[in-house]
Amino acid sequence: MNYRVFSFQSSILHSMTKRIAIFGSTGSIGTQALDVIAANPTLFSVEVLTAHTNGDLLIEQAKKFNPNIVVISDDKQYQKVKDALSSTHIKVFGGEESLNEVAAMDVYDLMLAAIVGYAGLKPTLSAIENGKVICLANKETLVVAGDIVMQKAFEKNVPVIPVDSEHSAIFQCLIGEGRNKIEKIVLTASGGPFLGRKPNYLVNVKRDHALQHPNWTMGAKISIDSATLMNKGLEMIEAKWLFNLQPDQIQVVIHPQSIIHSMVMFDDGSIKAQMGLPDMKLPIQYALAFPQRIPNQFPRYDFRKPNTLTFEEPDVKTFRNLTLATEALFKGGNLPCVLNAANEIAVYAFLRNRIGFLDMTEMVEQTMQKIPFIASPTLDEYLQTDAEARSFAASLIQM
Ligand code: NDP
Ligand code: MG
Repeated sequence: MNYRVFSFQSSILHSMTKRIAIFGSTGSIGTQALDVIAANPTLFSVEVLTAHTNGDLLIEQAKKFNPNIVVISDDKQYQKVKDALSSTHIKVFGGEESLNEVAAMDVYDLMLAAIVGYAGLKPTLSAIENGKVICLANKETLVVAGDIVMQKAFEKNVPVIPVDSEHSAIFQCLIGEGRNKIEKIVLTASGGPFLGRKPNYLVNVKRDHALQHPNWTMGAKISIDSATLMNKGLEMIEAKWLFNLQPDQIQVVIHPQSIIHSMVMFDDGSIKAQMGLPDMKLPIQYALAFPQRIPNQFPRYDFRKPNTLTFEEPDVKTFRNLTLATEALFKGGNLPCVLNAANEIAVYAFLRNRIGFLDMTEMVEQTMQKIPFIASPTLDEYLQTDAEARSFAASLIQM
């Protein structure tokens, strides 16, 4: 299976006004996507918005964008959202199950999958099942069950267009390359806020410091993942599934300036890179508007200004998450799912000051050793693996 045989001729991609569903509209990606849509009202209409806990922002977004449906997945917020929108025609759904139901409805063409974490998997699968184009920000979906998700997309002829900046870069480099062979891809990583630091420093790092990313403003979970380099590990696995690569075709290089968003080396040794200032609005608008490019007023990178672009090998001895993720990438099966589940528990525990920075890696490693390996899991086995890994990882915190 190769994504490049997908039909990007899908009529939805070429429709005048795309009907968009933003799953996770109150997050960092979701709000930036709404900015892109607001700037291009003739190209996009907002049909579905979903939030988890931020009912107030969902209400504000609903009043501004007038969608057909909103979903608030946290039940406690339902009544507030329902009451606030009672004088409009907007339908309000509550609860986690509603996410899957609404994802299956025939009220939109394209889902921006921007929920964070494992919670994004089922709605995305539901959308694919129903033939919706997917713009994928939620990398955890592919880390947990990439084989099943991509196989389903292939069967349904559903384009999966990456939003993650590295994968968007690779996707853009591959346009026009047809069936030309990829030798390898090079995923660039900024290195996060602790580039160059050693374990004796990291052991004392606290939540607020770890949330300060040098180049990007993002949600809390991915900011911590960037600080631990788990984000790059998850992205290696994401790339494997999106571009149908072998694990040894995926290389990570530290590039602190985040100007080259990633590269593809073809089998003649030629390298294509996609570059620009780091701004997630660019890959978001590229994915939403694909295959068109739409003009914007974002600041431009200027080669005439004194700049130095540097590259170095990642310090995998210090940032062991990258080693763990590489192991999961090579071994496959349910191991990436275990890695992801343990990491989600670890990150949330760190964000609540329950565990230290380096404990996150310990927790992931121990969970990977504990949960039984399954070489070719079914979807149910993935879901079960996720639950087991979460519960084991959580048990490590109470000790
Ligand atoms: P945020 O934490 O900012 O936003 C997450 C969104 O998901 C919010 O709308 C949130 O709702 C919702 N959400 C959280 N938990 C649940 C749940 N259990 N069920 C349903 N909805 C839920 O995350 P980001 O926008 O930063 O990231 C979203 C995804 O995109 C992640 O997978 C991330 O890895 C990926 N990504 C993000 C980038 C970025 O720059 N931010 C870059 C590349 C990829 P609420 O806020 O209402 O609780
Ligand atoms: Mg990324």
